[in-house]
Amino acid sequence: MSDTFNIGLGNNNPEVRKRSKTDFITFWEDQAKNLSWFSPWSNPLNWNPPFAKWFEGGLINASFNALDIHQQKNSEKPAIIWEAESGESRNLTYRDLWIEVQKFSNALKSLGIKKGDRITIYLPMVPELPISMLACARIGVTHTVVFSGFSSASLRERIEDSKSKIVITSDGGYRRGKIVKLKEVVDEAIQNFDFVKNVIVMERTKEPIQLNSKDILWKDLIKNASSECAPEKLNSLHPLFILYTSGTTGKPKGVLHGTGGYLTHIHSTFQWAFDIKDSDIFFCTADIGWVTGHSYVVYGPLLHGATEIMYEGAPDFPDSSRMWEIIQKHKVTIFYTTPTALRMFMKFGNKIPNSFDLSTLRLLGTVGEPINPEVWKWYYKVIGKEKCPIIDTWWQTETGGMMISSLPGIETIPLKPGSGTRPIPGVDISVVDEKGNEVSSNTKGYLIIKKPWPGMLLTLWGDDEKYKNAYWSKFPNTYYSGDFAKIDEDGYFWLLGRADDVLKVAGHRIGTAELESCIVGHNDVAESAVCGIPDEVKGEVIISFVVLKENVNKNSDILEKELYEKIRTDIGPIATPKEIYFVSKLPKTRSGKIMRRLLKAIAKNEIIGDISTLEDGTAVTEIQSAIRELQESITKKT
Ligand code: ATP
Ligand code: MG
Repeated sequence: MSDTFNIGLGNNNPEVRKRSKTDFITFWEDQAKNLSWFSPWSNPLNWNPPFAKWFEGGLINASFNALDIHQQKNSEKPAIIWEAESGESRNLTYRDLWIEVQKFSNALKSLGIKKGDRITIYLPMVPELPISMLACARIGVTHTVVFSGFSSASLRERIEDSKSKIVITSDGGYRRGKIVKLKEVVDEAIQNFDFVKNVIVMERTKEPIQLNSKDILWKDLIKNASSECAPEKLNSLHPLFILYTSGTTGKPKGVLHGTGGYLTHIHSTFQWAFDIKDSDIFFCTADIGWVTGHSYVVYGPLLHGATEIMYEGAPDFPDSSRMWEIIQKHKVTIFYTTPTALRMFMKFGNKIPNSFDLSTLRLLGTVGEPINPEVWKWYYKVIGKEKCPIIDTWWQTETGGMMISSLPGIETIPLKPGSGTRPIPGVDISVVDEKGNEVSSNTKGYLIIKKPWPGMLLTLWGDDEKYKNAYWSKFPNTYYSGDFAKIDEDGYFWLLGRADDVLKVAGHRIGTAELESCIVGHNDVAESAVCGIPDEVKGEVIISFVVLKENVNKNSDILEKELYEKIRTDIGPIATPKEIYFVSKLPKTRSGKIMRRLLKAIAKNEIIGDISTLEDGTAVTEIQSAIRELQESITKKT
């Protein structure tokens, strides 16, 4: 039996879910009507599997919906409150943002950029990043944001794949007090790319910059640009952005999203999940380089005319109280972050968050990986003071927006730590076995989506075949998520980790998330990663890597014994790892996810191979030292 927490915001609107059950297409049509369209659609859904065309024939513009409608009503409302690592800050009202976006749209046009072109954006977390995205959206350019921690090789690959005519960057960005010279990375990335016409350089650090023939300073470009730029009336299917997945399971995929369907999904889920009100101060810690940043830093809050915090830098710099300090300073009401960040904060101890006033918080959220129940409870108690519901939101770059989450904006249901609860209204999600048959309750299987949904990707950029193979070939006419899950007796979904990572021990299938959460449930453990390696007798055995909390000075033999005991009682002897390795950090993607594929390669003493998916750049040395440490710990034991 899992714990349950009866905590909500008192909202109860059963109509939403009821209506979604009668006819999902009409239901989503109703949601789409909450946006401003220049012309209505002629067909709500053209479903030609596996290609979905939502709101076909409708004309819309993302930038108009994010800015113009709010600026007309409430122009002086702060849109973005920007905080830098250094303590620098900037405030942009809806009017400011609206003007800056229009100026920059005109500036792009002055460089010959037209509807249908692509632009790569390689900027740190500064307001110019959403300004660039919204300017692209305004004039019908498809933006492709590349996380600013990527190396030149990764950036080059993405610029080439999208054939971007322009790259927008800055002289540098700050991370842990150091300047990362982004413009130099771009210079290397675009060598011999004749199709790249210009590089626009925003001055962030004011360090001297070497300007080349293609380079133009942001400030010079907008100097004479008019602040009026009418939004393009774009077809609902117009490609809004290309975004590459995190690369947790392999080479990142170029996910293509459209406009009308995507905006409908984001607008609806932002309201249902976050219960957004005019008075809220919303803070999502994701970098805009990942999908969470696209959907719930840029489009979600702005579509609702909300006020949000945008933060540049590491969450624990200059010290580990940075996030709590921001929440206190700006009276943040809604906080959305990742399990990996929470495990880090938890590792630092309770004293730090306890010394800040976090009483303005009313809702907490998490995304990106399964959240360990222990971490959920810590978040609930120490950060939320037992008065904030926690939304555990499951979704993917491909789904555009949330697919499974509790929705305190429309309903109050008991929460279970570690479960995302139920699918959002209007989507049809299930768990099936290898043959595609639905499994009975509490049985593990593959998470699949049975019907198209509005935030669904259009395709993989330039590769319809790969799109079909990656998502639609395992089960007929069904979207395969690649995740492993179960549904409990109350219809609650439990995400159990990646299907590729499932541990198969003596015929039993164990999700990585189950076992890791059990290990993290030990008082002294901060983080854990498990993986399976081949074994001559058992087929596969489990090994586990464990990071301890700060200031733990228990003997590792005692700890090891306690952990084995805990696993045996909580899950069963079958799940007992062959080895437990104590390490100081785990290799992660730049989006903060544990890369089990790599752990396995290290344990099997295989060539680690391509670690560009490990979001190299600034993180590469950190990752390499983690790998070295893991290798050493393995050799020491054997
Ligand atoms: P790639 O597809 O390139 O391997 P990725 O899957 O890490 O990378 P994203 O789209 O950023 O790229 O992440 C989506 C994945 O993150 C999901 O498929 C799931 O495994 C995991 N995930 C996201 N949110 C949750 C959650 N709340 N609970 C459990 N897992 C989650
Ligand atoms: Mg994925």
